[in-house]
Amino acid sequence: MTTATSLDGQLLVPGDKDYDDVRAVWNAMADRRPRMIIRCASVADVVTAVRTARELDLEIGVRCGGHGALGLAVPEDGLMIDLSPMGGVRVDPAQRRAWVQGGALLGALDDASQRYGLATTAGNVSHTGVGGLTLGGGMGWLARQHGLACDNVVSFEMVTAEGEVVRASRTENPDLFWGLRGGGGNFGVVTEFEFRLHPVGTQALVAEYQYRLDDALPVLRGWRDLNAEAPRQATFTASIGGDGLVTAGFVWVGDPREGRKLVPAMRSLGRPVTESVSEPSYLELQRRDDVTGGHAFRRYSKGHYLRRFPDEAIEAFLRRGTENGRGDNLPNVGLQAHGGAIADVPDEDSAFSHRGTLFEFSTGTRWTDPGEDEARMAGARRCAAALDPFASGVYVNMLGDEGVEGIRRAYPPAKLARLTALKNAYDPGNVFHLNQNIRPSVSPGPID
Ligand code: FAD
Repeated sequence: MTTATSLDGQLLVPGDKDYDDVRAVWNAMADRRPRMIIRCASVADVVTAVRTARELDLEIGVRCGGHGALGLAVPEDGLMIDLSPMGGVRVDPAQRRAWVQGGALLGALDDASQRYGLATTAGNVSHTGVGGLTLGGGMGWLARQHGLACDNVVSFEMVTAEGEVVRASRTENPDLFWGLRGGGGNFGVVTEFEFRLHPVGTQALVAEYQYRLDDALPVLRGWRDLNAEAPRQATFTASIGGDGLVTAGFVWVGDPREGRKLVPAMRSLGRPVTESVSEPSYLELQRRDDVTGGHAFRRYSKGHYLRRFPDEAIEAFLRRGTENGRGDNLPNVGLQAHGGAIADVPDEDSAFSHRGTLFEFSTGTRWTDPGEDEARMAGARRCAAALDPFASGVYVNMLGDEGVEGIRRAYPPAKLARLTALKNAYDPGNVFHLNQNIRPSVSPGPID
């Protein structure tokens, strides 16, 4: 049995001072009470935590940034492995490498890399965890230039279900290296990621135009067609938020003067009610959505990958699961372009799937009153269902409560078979099952 004195970090149990703060995650709907929390400060602590959980037969949750849609990092009556004290990042600018501890947030990776004008692909909200994001794939504003976050991992260090420390790279345990790039937290606890960095400079540009709903159909058609020719520095975005206006535009990473060359074409798509072209630094860009993506709300979201975006899909996007796109408390919707370097990577290279995606669609809603839970979730489900006929799959990190059906949408059959074989090899007892779970086929294991 673990005692607090045998840890470099800290053991917390219900009633301890920090217990409630540490068990709180991004989605306020996840309000679970672990029997113990081990705040790991070293790889040895992670080993101790895994072994302790197994001795006491406790379910394990693994927490990095705590942004998982369902808050599965927090196990009810189980043992939470809290990696957040392991948040360090070390950069070697000469080798263009970053070594990132398993509990680090994206902001720490970006801050450390940008000191040298370097970066690797990270997500759009700086308080998201490197751990969950990278293990599921990792989309961000640099992905069309440099691939997903997982495409930039050179090696992983991981603690297995047996409490052993292993490494994975193209030459060491290459099967595990394949699975950790897109297979989520199924195979063990990653204690370090080694990333390739790129000289991206420190500049960015964001162009956004807002249109009335009635004017938006031809605009989004033109926006879609422009995207087909867009340079890789540009990531096209579109969204509808609480004000009901339709935003279309793009985010550019690199020399803003180059990015501005796209502005006239974007401007000519229609008559916007507002327009804004700004030149944030790369670090400002990476924090731009931190407030809208903030903590302490009840949240529900769903998503699809779209290989094509025909006019009928644009219409469904604009209607947001309703007759005419109008109403109270409609879910937000968004589109983010893929392609470029994401699609350059051969599909068989990693567990991550659906590299032929044109746009990722997401719908999400946030609220505070638990009395609104059912209505809010139903609205987002209706909205996602309306886009379903155009969907080609789903991003595993966008999955919520879809269960096995969701896993089948995230991974085509051949990939799922390979992931299952890897799970049999590394975690046949399904010790790590509080995740988007790949079930082993050798033993039933705990059910998620
Ligand atoms: P956690 O809840 O801590 O972890 C999620 C799961 O990942 C855990 O349950 C565990 O199974 C596993 N895990 C985490 N760390 C480790 C580790 N070190 N070792 C083993 N397993 C681990 N995704 C994108 O691709 N691009 C985006 O721009 C983006 N933006 C987002 C913005 C917000 C506000 C939110 C909430 C999510 C966003 N996402 C984005 C989705 C995000 O990638 C997932 O929610 C991801 O799971 C978050 O990881 P985390 O470490 O913060 O979460």
